[in-house]
Amino acid sequence: MTQSIPSQPLLECLIGSLSVVILACPMPAASLGDSLKPGVDAEYPALERLYQDFHAHPELSFHEEQTAAKLASELKTLGLEVVTAVGGHGVVGVLRNGAGKTLLVRTDLDALPVKEQTDLPYSSRVRTTNDLGVEVDVMHACGHDVHITSLIGTARLLTRLKDRWRGTVVFIGQPAEERGAGARRMLADGLFTRFPKPDLCLALHVNSELPAGSIGLVEGFALANVDTIDITMRGAGGHGAWPHKTKDPVVLAAQTILALQTIVSRETDPLESAVVTVGSIHGGTKHNIIPDEVKLQLTVRSFTDEVRGQTLEAIQRIARGQAVSAGIPAERMPVVRVAEEEFTPATFNNPQLVRRLRGVFSELLGEKNVLSPKPTMGGEDFSEYGRTADKIPICIFWLGSMEPERVAESQRTGKPLPALHSGLYRPLLKPTLQTGVEAMTAAVLGLTAEK
Ligand SMILES: [Zn+2]
Ligand SMILES: [Zn+2]
Repeated sequence: MTQSIPSQPLLECLIGSLSVVILACPMPAASLGDSLKPGVDAEYPALERLYQDFHAHPELSFHEEQTAAKLASELKTLGLEVVTAVGGHGVVGVLRNGAGKTLLVRTDLDALPVKEQTDLPYSSRVRTTNDLGVEVDVMHACGHDVHITSLIGTARLLTRLKDRWRGTVVFIGQPAEERGAGARRMLADGLFTRFPKPDLCLALHVNSELPAGSIGLVEGFALANVDTIDITMRGAGGHGAWPHKTKDPVVLAAQTILALQTIVSRETDPLESAVVTVGSIHGGTKHNIIPDEVKLQLTVRSFTDEVRGQTLEAIQRIARGQAVSAGIPAERMPVVRVAEEEFTPATFNNPQLVRRLRGVFSELLGEKNVLSPKPTMGGEDFSEYGRTADKIPICIFWLGSMEPERVAESQRTGKPLPALHSGLYRPLLKPTLQTGVEAMTAAVLGLTAEK
């Protein structure tokens, strides 16, 4: 016999040692996802109803009164210390759970002047008068209703799971994100002095290109500097038949728009990123009248302070240079106004924090569902929380919100899906909302557990 068969005593010995090994190894602990799922499932029906209510009743930036009141009431019900009217309609809810780190979790509150074009039973039919006196439709077209509901779900879970974390969570509902002003106003109203100062700040934002059930993490610059610029090109108007007796600002504006394109193509380091878009041009009243002036509206995007500075300087120089070239007199040089009050700085996701979150989310959702999308030239005033003198590490992560089949089809055909700010944007609520609650809860559990 060549085959070695263990003798009976040896077999008993092997089985015996195996049982010792089994006894020595406790049953594998439930995964992070499995341990959070029952709580999220139990809350889901109520959260979906809350979401539908927020979605059906959107409010414009600086007018988030009812939204803020509902959020404050939800957080109060959980026993949090809640303060309202922080920097406008801002809400702060503090959840204390012993000594430890302080984390800030932020949602934005505002909606957009967009007409909803979905056929959802809870679609928005809200119309209101905006700050300019114009009647507009209103919609949560940027998914801030998902963010609010996710924050409430996270607060509910963390209140229940107090034995699994230590520290303080400062939940905030921030107004006027779409106007790039809410974060600054909350900070100016004492967000970091009247309330526990955070060690880390977290936020999530829905993403219309990532599949529901996934998270997207971007290390370093994730969103851009956003500048809003108004240019008035001035000339000397007159009859359309006698252009030689005028200084035509329409032609000057056209030349200026083309010259501005050289800022990105000829003046910016090709390895840096910048955008100069002229989104609006208005001038004149009639075919045969050369007007006195033409107005341009620009959005300008960049990541670094250096590229931003160069781009803004170039816009001033080119507008003036074109006017000089057209023979515009010195007193009629273009007026270039950079709206500093609407400036949104670039969002820099702290790389170390991103790596820690990648670990937490991979454990929660599996590595294949934690994606690494490119940075975007969109903007977010969440950046402000990391730009105070305290230099607090911040991270905003993307929450996938689309049917996976639609994402796959869009990638195959190249046909884009309805983007954020579109009246057709419709997040796939289940599992988007569940993933939002699970991910933010897991982030707090993971980050407060570390030394
Ligand atoms: Zn938006
Ligand atoms: Zn948004």
